[in-house]
Amino acid sequence: MPPSPPFTEEHEELRASARGFIERELAPHAGRWEQEQWFPEELFAKLAAQGLLGLKYPERYGGQGGDYLHEAVLCEEMARIGSGGTAAGLGAHINIATPPIWKFGSEEQKQRYLVPAIRGELIGALGITEPGAGSDVAALATRAERVDGGWIVNGEKTYITNGVRAHFIVTAVKTTREGGHHGISFLIVERGEGVRSSKLQKLGWHASDTATISFEDVFVAEENLLGELNQGFKLIMANFQWERLAMALGAVGAMQLAWERTAEFARERQAFGRALSGHQTIRHRLADLATSVYTCRCVTHDALRRFVAGEDPLQEVTMAKLLTQRACFELMDACLQIHGGAGYMREYWVERAARDARLGPIGGGSDEIMREILGRTLGL
Ligand SMILES: Cc1cc2nc3c(=O)[nH]c(=O)nc-3n(C[C@H](O)[C@H](O)[C@H](O)COP(=O)(O)OP(=O)(O)OC[C@H]3O[C@@H](n4cnc5c(N)ncnc54)[C@H](O)[C@@H]3O)c2cc1C
Repeated sequence: MPPSPPFTEEHEELRASARGFIERELAPHAGRWEQEQWFPEELFAKLAAQGLLGLKYPERYGGQGGDYLHEAVLCEEMARIGSGGTAAGLGAHINIATPPIWKFGSEEQKQRYLVPAIRGELIGALGITEPGAGSDVAALATRAERVDGGWIVNGEKTYITNGVRAHFIVTAVKTTREGGHHGISFLIVERGEGVRSSKLQKLGWHASDTATISFEDVFVAEENLLGELNQGFKLIMANFQWERLAMALGAVGAMQLAWERTAEFARERQAFGRALSGHQTIRHRLADLATSVYTCRCVTHDALRRFVAGEDPLQEVTMAKLLTQRACFELMDACLQIHGGAGYMREYWVERAARDARLGPIGGGSDEIMREILGRTLGL
C-alpha cells in the first residue's frame, strides 16, 4: 500500500525500523516493567542509540535533522511497546520536556540540557500542574523569589511524568505577585538540594513514575530562566498543540493495534459452534470499531498535516485530541468486552490497554477544556 499523506515512503521506512526495534527490544519486557511499576533508565540511552530521542531536532544538537512528521511516526509506534507507562515516560521526555528548551532555550541551555537529553544521558520532565492548579494554569502558586544571582523556588508540583527519575524539570513558576497569566515564568530546575519527589499510585500507566515534586528553598541560577521573564504562559501555549497532537497520534496507534488483536481473537475464539466474528453483533461491533479507528486517523492526520504546513490549526488539533482520547478509551472497553472474562485478566494485554487509555480524556487538557477551546474557536 502506498503511504497515506502526510507520510511518505521515507516515513514508512522509519516506521518499519522503529516498529522492529520496539517489538524486539521493548515489548517483550513491558509486562515486567508494568508489574515492577518502573521501566529502566537505560531505555533512554537505548532509544538515543537508534536516533529516536532526537528525530525532530537539528543535527548540530545530536538530533536526526527531521521534523514533526518523523516524530509523529514514533508517537504512533510507541503504542506497540504495550505499556502506556513506558510510552508516557519516554514520550514526556521527547514531546513535552525537551521542546521548550529547543524553542526557547539559550544556546548555553541547549548545550547543557538538550544535547545530553537527546543522547539519553539526562532525563527531563515538564512541571506545570500543581495540587491547586491543573486545568486552570493561571492559578499556579509555586513562587520564585529574586535573589542575588538567581531565584529561590518554593512550592509543589503534582502528577508529573518522570517526576522521580528526571534530572531536570522544566518548571512553571510565579515570578510576580499578581494573579492570572501574567507573572508566569519557566525555570529549568535541576534535581538537588530542596527538590523532593514522591511517586504516586495510579489506575494505569504503571511503569511510569508520576510524582509529586516539592521545592523547598531551591536555589536556581539566573542562567536557568527559560524564555523571557513573566512570559511563561506563551511558552505553555507554544507546545500545547504538539503535545495534543502527540496524544492523538498515540491513540491512533493504540487503537489500530487493539483492533487488529481483537479481530484476531474474535476469528479464533469459538462460541456456540462458530467463531465470535461469525456472530453478527460481534462482527458489527468490530466494523464500528474499525470505522472509529479510521475516523480518528483521518482527523488526526489532517490536523498533523496542517500543523506541519505551518498553519495555526488550533481548532483541528483540539478536535483531534477530544475525539481520539475518548474514542480510544471506548474502543479499549469494547475490545475488553469482546475478550470476555479473559479481558479482565492481568495476563491479557487488553486489561492494561483499557486502564492506560483512561488517562487520555484527562491529561494534556481534559475533554471539558478541549470543548471550552472549541467554544471559543467556534465563536460561541
Ligand atoms: C498520569 C498523569 C500524568 C500527568 N503528567 C503531567 C506532566 O508530566 N506534567 C504536568 O504538568 N501535568 C501532568 N499531568 C496533569 C494533567 O495535565 C492534569 O491532571 C489535567 O490538566 C487536569 O488537571 P487537574 O487534574 O488539576 O483537574 P482539574 O483542573 O481540577 O479538573 C477537574 C475536572 O473538572 C473539569 N473542569 C476544570 N475546569 C473546567 C471548566 N472550566 N469547565 C468545565 N469543566 C472543567 C476537568 O475537565 C476535570 O474533569 C498528568 C496527569 C496524570 C493523571
